[in-house]
Amino acid sequence: MRELTELRTEFPILQQHVNGYPLIYLDNAATTQKPEAVINTINHYYRTTNANVHRASHCLSARATHAFEDARDTVRRFLHASHTDEIIWTRGATEAINLVAQSWGGNTLKTGDEVLISAMEHHANIVPWQQICHATGAALKVIPVNGNGELDKVAFRQQLGAQTRLLSICHVSNVIGTINPVHDMIRDAHAVGAKVLIDGSQAVAHFPVDVQALDCDFYLFSGHKAYGPTGIGVLYGKRELLQAMPPWQTGGEMVEQVSFSGTTFTPPPFRFEAGTPNVVGALGLATALDFLMACDPQQLRVHEQGMLTLATDGLNQIPGLTIIGTAQEKTAVLSFVMDTLHHQDIGTLLDLQGIAVRTGHHCAMPLMSALKRPGTIRASMALYNTEAEIETFINAVSTLQKETQSLGTEPRPRSPAKRLPKAFTHETELAAESLLNELQALRSWQERYRHIMMLGKRLPTLPDSMRFEEHRLHGCESAVWFQHHYDKTAMRLYFSIDSDARIVRGLITLILSALNGRTPEEIAAFDMDAYFEALRLMNHLSPSRGNGLRAIVKEIQLTAHRYR
Ligand code: PLP
Repeated sequence: MRELTELRTEFPILQQHVNGYPLIYLDNAATTQKPEAVINTINHYYRTTNANVHRASHCLSARATHAFEDARDTVRRFLHASHTDEIIWTRGATEAINLVAQSWGGNTLKTGDEVLISAMEHHANIVPWQQICHATGAALKVIPVNGNGELDKVAFRQQLGAQTRLLSICHVSNVIGTINPVHDMIRDAHAVGAKVLIDGSQAVAHFPVDVQALDCDFYLFSGHKAYGPTGIGVLYGKRELLQAMPPWQTGGEMVEQVSFSGTTFTPPPFRFEAGTPNVVGALGLATALDFLMACDPQQLRVHEQGMLTLATDGLNQIPGLTIIGTAQEKTAVLSFVMDTLHHQDIGTLLDLQGIAVRTGHHCAMPLMSALKRPGTIRASMALYNTEAEIETFINAVSTLQKETQSLGTEPRPRSPAKRLPKAFTHETELAAESLLNELQALRSWQERYRHIMMLGKRLPTLPDSMRFEEHRLHGCESAVWFQHHYDKTAMRLYFSIDSDARIVRGLITLILSALNGRTPEEIAAFDMDAYFEALRLMNHLSPSRGNGLRAIVKEIQLTAHRYR
């Protein structure tokens, strides 16, 4: 067994500085970083072994095929499956669930049947079932989540019945880290004759999984969340189930005999692996799993739980901060929100200090609805994170909270509106030129970002009564509301745009300073990229934020077009 403290140095990417600070990577639930061993496997494969598998008679192909099938056996050992042919390579968890939905679901489900999922599923374990239920006439049922972020056991037992064909749930929630009691749930589902699929995407990197002990029918995960490469994942299925399932994709590699009168298919696992597989991905994943199996699971658990406790206790001290998801059994995943700052603002401001977290709905919109939150900030830890990093993270969040207090709370609109907001008037208090000077005078990107947040305070806030869905602009990460007014006499356009994120409000202020009160022709000629380039902001806009701003400018320009 390897000492955990030694392992961090094996992740080259963690030696980097980001925005001038040592990288603190807390977005491990999205994807983990890769150890040197995995990187070397990929490099070595392309330098020494690369060939297509299962087909050619030459030496390289034989070598590649052996390595590929050995990798499959490594996965079998990792999941403690009985047979290697129960392990199917997929592109990732998403493809694995789609495979089961299309092949098993398409062949089994019918009107009157039910598929039971939970309210805490990733979209990958919702949409494929929604689609196949729609196609087959089966019904989709959802186990509710309680206020702590745990599945409602009573509701679950009530929902189970003779009509339940499948229970498909995550082992661990990607948003709030809840570890579901899958062992008991599998037993209960089997008692009514249902099959069980477990989405282990957020589990396998944190604790050992034994599919035989669980007795699940399907288990799956993505390699990239377990220190392996992207583009490779695993579906485990019980042998007799896989043997009875038809192919879901067809083509080469999965056939025995092909003629124009018909085709016969190979047995599993190849029946489900049409086309040339991701050979190097499989080898990289096997290396990652060997790496994980060389760690002491007890030590890993103690280390990750220690960081979770530290982060939970530290964040709980911060006024106005609420931790979302307080289940008894959790992995080291922490979601939270703050009263005074939008989750997107927090993500951006932490990034300025080299701290990578995830913000938004985390591909679990139904869970966000159940928790009545538009999004959260998620810090998710891995074996290479340290307590010192967690302390830096807590201090950074605490400082943000204090700084935000000094910025003051957002001026909340009074509702209903008696008067049109200021932006509809002719006042243009934000001359683009002076803004340009103000921003250019600030040397560091961090200072400029803080200044942008201050600018947001100058933007008139739309009253709640105008924050309607019909005024919502889509294509932005945060909520953005948009209205305009055309002054026929002066032939000028005025805009009132608002957002729930401070940084977005600041960026809107910059846009409006250039476009508010202009003629439709002037607006049509506006080049947003050149403008942000002049403000020296272009390089610092994330692709999604840049696209969000483009959506706003596009809407302004489309509006202008109507008056030309
Ligand atoms: N299931 C869970 C619980 C996840 O967290 C994720 C990814 O975040 C997925 C499924 C989908 O994984 P992938 O995008 O690698 O297919």
